[in-house]
Amino acid sequence: MRLVLLGAPGSGKGTQAQRLRDQTGIPQISSGDLLRDAVARGTELGKRARAAMDAGELVTDDIVLGLIRERLGRPDAATGFILDGYPRNVAQAGALDQLLADLGQPLDAVVLMQVDEKALVRRLTGRRTCPDCGKVFNVYSSASGKGERCDNPVHGAEPPLLKQRDDDKEDVIANRLKVYNAQTAPLIEHYQGRGLLRTVNAAQPMDRVFAEFVKVTGA
Ligand code: AMP
Repeated sequence: MRLVLLGAPGSGKGTQAQRLRDQTGIPQISSGDLLRDAVARGTELGKRARAAMDAGELVTDDIVLGLIRERLGRPDAATGFILDGYPRNVAQAGALDQLLADLGQPLDAVVLMQVDEKALVRRLTGRRTCPDCGKVFNVYSSASGKGERCDNPVHGAEPPLLKQRDDDKEDVIANRLKVYNAQTAPLIEHYQGRGLLRTVNAAQPMDRVFAEFVKVTGA
């Protein structure tokens, strides 16, 4: 199964992608995670990406495409993938079409996670992430998010402290939502026109969202 998750920051793309990955084994490919990893490792590419990320702007298309191309070329993506955060504008959607055509792996569906803006701000300010395994929590909605440490059993006796992302601060959030509306939202029409778009009501509790997500994708 080859999926793209579309939706504003905070709409739950990462959470749902991780759940689907855990259930099906299909890898979640998050452009944001790939970029944050490059920044953390201090690579040349990470250094070039950092300022845009800190400001809530999009990183240039060539940097992100390079990361995505490399990731999609790894063996575990041969049987499918859940793209989370890519594409983010019309040019990236065109580049992805081309890349997937070259690989002979067209998309099966694009899932739009729909949720109103007020809820997004609350979700983003409450979001906490495990710096080690990437598991996402929320201080408002998940019991474990209120604790300070990750609850993923893979960590053993000394689980890492949860962190707030630098770009989940309120001033940066406003810009990220603006960028989404201006640059990413046009992709809804792009994929609708190709008959690929499925919409999920992402304002519901997590389990209900996941049930809808599974239903519309046939996962
Ligand atoms: P995310 O984790 O998806 O919210 O992404 C965090 C930040 O990484 C975004 O605010 C952008 O600065 C950058 N980013 C992630 N994905 C992309 C993309 N497809 N194109 C450009 N920038 C991206």
